[in-house]
Amino acid sequence: MIKVLIVEDNAVNRELLRELLELRGYTVIEACDGQEALRMIDQAQPELLLLDIGMPIMDGFAVIQRIRENPRLAKLPVVAVTAYAMRGDEERILNSGFDGYLSKPVNPSSLTEELDRVLTKGSKPATPDPAHEGQPARKAGAMGATGGGS
Ligand code: MN
Repeated sequence: MIKVLIVEDNAVNRELLRELLELRGYTVIEACDGQEALRMIDQAQPELLLLDIGMPIMDGFAVIQRIRENPRLAKLPVVAVTAYAMRGDEERILNSGFDGYLSKPVNPSSLTEELDRVLTKGSKPATPDPAHEGQPARKAGAMGATGGGS
């Protein structure tokens, strides 16, 4: 069973996420602030984190920064859970070291999809496996705005 750490300061949200995850067969542990989260990552070694952005003292951005500073945790899958669903935030989140994000209120099927995606990505680092597909992995530059030289 995959062990997920929920980091969330709001007890109601925490409980909601726990129920959704347990229904899907995940093992769930919880932390209610950033400090506790870092401690639990160390002690309980979760395989995935759901990390709330809006928390007092140490917000989600501060926590992800601490996680990514640790070489041992560089690849730990971390999904942001955020109440702000604005475009700029999405970009900031993905640029901060998160592997994905979910907006509150968390939609159950989005949760499942996002966790599957992040967990798959974690175990299979971008290996196209062209032999299996029988098709050459063509990833040509789609943004090739070549300004043909003189
Ligand atoms: Mn919060």
